[in-house]
Amino acid sequence: MTSFDTLAAHAGREDLVHLGVHALPLDLSSTYPLAHPDADALSLESLAGGGPPTASAVYARLFNPTVARFERGLAALEGAEEAVAFASGMAALTACLMAARERGDHVVAVRPLYGGSDHLLASGMLGMKVDFVDAGAVGSAVREETALVIVETPANPTLGLVDIGRVVREARGAPVLVDNTFATPVLQRPIAHGAAAALHSATKYLGGHGDVLGGVVATNASFAAALRRVRVATGAVLHPLAGYLLHRGLATLPLRVRASQEGARVLARRLAAHHAVRRVFYPELPGGDPRGVLGRQMAGGGGILSFEVADAATAARVLSHVRLMTPAVSLGSTDTLIQAPAAFTHRVVDPRVREATAIAEGMLRVAVGVEDPEDLWADLAEALAAAEAVDSDVRGRGVMAAAV
Ligand SMILES: *Cc1c(COP(=O)(O)O)cnc(C)c1O
Repeated sequence: MTSFDTLAAHAGREDLVHLGVHALPLDLSSTYPLAHPDADALSLESLAGGGPPTASAVYARLFNPTVARFERGLAALEGAEEAVAFASGMAALTACLMAARERGDHVVAVRPLYGGSDHLLASGMLGMKVDFVDAGAVGSAVREETALVIVETPANPTLGLVDIGRVVREARGAPVLVDNTFATPVLQRPIAHGAAAALHSATKYLGGHGDVLGGVVATNASFAAALRRVRVATGAVLHPLAGYLLHRGLATLPLRVRASQEGARVLARRLAAHHAVRRVFYPELPGGDPRGVLGRQMAGGGGILSFEVADAATAARVLSHVRLMTPAVSLGSTDTLIQAPAAFTHRVVDPRVREATAIAEGMLRVAVGVEDPEDLWADLAEALAAAEAVDSDVRGRGVMAAAV
C-alpha cells in the first residue's frame, strides 16, 4: 500500500499526465459548451441527481473539474469512497444536516463543538430536533428517527478526545459524522473507525496558509450523492481557485501537521510548568486522554492546545503582548495564531454551556504553526510575564486607593 505521505503528494492528480500538464489545472468556467445537446441534457440530469457528468459539465454550480480533483485527493487521504466540497466548513455542515433529512429530523450532537456548529445546531434554523449530550450518553439519546450523530474530536477548544468506535457502536446504525478539522487525516481517519463521514473546515489545516475558505465531507458514495444534490440545489459551491489552493495544500499537509504538533508538544509541556498557568489542555499531557484514544485512533496530540490564566483580563493582556504569534481566530496556518475562546470563537455559545464544558473566561487557545518552537516559547513566556507585571501593578494601585 502506498504510504500516506506519498498519497498526499499524488492523490487526485491521476489525470494530469493524460492532460499533458504537471501542475493542477485551474478551470474558472462558469458555463460549459453544449456540443452534443442530447447527451448534454442527460449529463445535466445526472449532475442534478448527485451523479457525475456524463458529457458536458453544463454549469459551474453543478460541477467543476478543479474542485473534483481536490475532492478525489481528500477522499483518498480519508480512506473514503468520495468527498464533496463546499464554500466553507459551515456550508459543509449545513449540507450534511439537509442531506440527513432524507432519513429523519433528529440529531444527536456531542458537546463541546466548534462555536459556529453549536450555534447552528442550537438555533433550530434548519428545523432539526437536536439533543446535545456528553460522549458517554449517545446510546440513550439515539432514537429510531435519528438522522445523524455529530462529534468533534479533538474538540474545539478543550481538546477533549472522543472514542469514535464507541460512539459508532452506541449510535446503533445511525450515521456518525466526525468533525476531523483538528486532527486532519494525517493523525486520524474516522471512517476506518466506523464513522459514516469525516467533515473538515478546509479553511484550517487543509488549506494551511490562511488564505482560503472552504469545507469538505469525505463519505460513502450514497451520502456523497445526497450532499451533491443539496449543493446543486442550494449553491454553496467551493470556488475553483479555492479548490486549486486546497488541493495544492494537501501535498504538504503531513509535513505541516507534524511540524505543528512538534511545536504544540513543546509549548504544552512548558506551559504546564509555568506558575501563571492554571491548567493546560493537550491530549498528550497526563489526564489528557482518559479513554486511551492516542495511538489507537489518533497518532499524536495534534498542533493545537489551550491553557487557562487567571481571568479574562489576564487573557486579554497576553493577547496584546504577543509579538510573533498573531492574535486571531482560525487555525492550521503556517504561522501561529492565539485567541480567547470565551471572547471570540465560542462567544455565540450560551455562557452556561461554556461553563459546563470547561471553556473558562481566562482560556487561551494556541494554534501552533510551523515556526521554531523555541521562538514561539520565547514569545509566549514574554507575553505571560508582561501580563503578570500589569496584573501586580493594578493590584498595587488598588491597595493604594484603598489606603487613601
Ligand atoms: C472553523 C471550524 C468550523 C467552521 O468552518 P468554516 O470554514 O469557518 O466555515 C467547523 N469546525 C471546526 C472544528 C472548525 O475549527
